[in-house]
Amino acid sequence: MEFHPITDNVYYFQGSVNIGYVRFSSGEGMLIDAGLEEQAMKKVLKTLKSKELPITHLFITHAHADHYGGAAYLQKQQKVYTIAPKLEAAILQEPMLEPLYLFHGVNPIQEWRSKFLEGKPIKVDAIIEEAGEVTVGESTFQTVDLPGHSYHQFGVIVEDVLFAADAYFGVEILHKHGIPYIVDAKQTMESLEKIKKLPCAGAVPGHGSYEKDFIATIDENLQVHHDIENLLYTLVNQEEDGISIEQLVTKACTEKGLTIRNVPSFMLFRTAVTAYLTKLIQEGRVELIVCNNQLVVASSSE
Ligand SMILES: [Zn+2]
Repeated sequence: MEFHPITDNVYYFQGSVNIGYVRFSSGEGMLIDAGLEEQAMKKVLKTLKSKELPITHLFITHAHADHYGGAAYLQKQQKVYTIAPKLEAAILQEPMLEPLYLFHGVNPIQEWRSKFLEGKPIKVDAIIEEAGEVTVGESTFQTVDLPGHSYHQFGVIVEDVLFAADAYFGVEILHKHGIPYIVDAKQTMESLEKIKKLPCAGAVPGHGSYEKDFIATIDENLQVHHDIENLLYTLVNQEEDGISIEQLVTKACTEKGLTIRNVPSFMLFRTAVTAYLTKLIQEGRVELIVCNNQLVVASSSE
């Protein structure tokens, strides 16, 4: 994990998941997200200590285990004032909610409760309902709501640098995912359009590199989402009697050259595919119906 400066006071740890850092003053500093696990947080704390950079605050952008899994360790080591958006905070305090929702609300069996889907619970001191200015001592930073990848995901803007969480992915990781995880396609695309208009000097995605000129990367993300939406629409339209969501997941992944390696991975793809379908349903282009005791997606009869 490499520690990169962006401005005099803004830095990020680049790893498979990025962690942001802001120094507000000689005595106050904030991490933006906490990595997947204890190991990552240990490295972060060691680096900050060696550079005499303070850590008093923690902002969690969204409640995915790879972004908050290291937070419980941090809270055990020291006092850290933890801030999170409202719905995400609920999951941070009750992390079993993630495997629970991914598996249709069924009490998840042990194999579905891995560190990738469920981190250790953390304490949240400040729950933010609406995006805006947040004050830390003499300093402030901005939050911006970027829903779509997660229900209530917030980005952070400080010294003109946007920490975008998983609102977009670096190009390489974007294509590696093939079908990125989202919970709402319409919101995902709106959040991307919103980022393009933010007055920022650069941006750090949750996965990828800091870029001063990030517009091309945002456009590439938009293109991927439009392509998947069109692919799903085409696949649904090929089936006269409709297609089950599970079959649609299989067809879409096969079409994209993706191999689904395990059950949780299938469920993540299923959520993402359903998130494009709800957009198509709301636009009246496809419908979700029950036919012969089967739940199917069919092209709209209108
Ligand atoms: Zn995420």
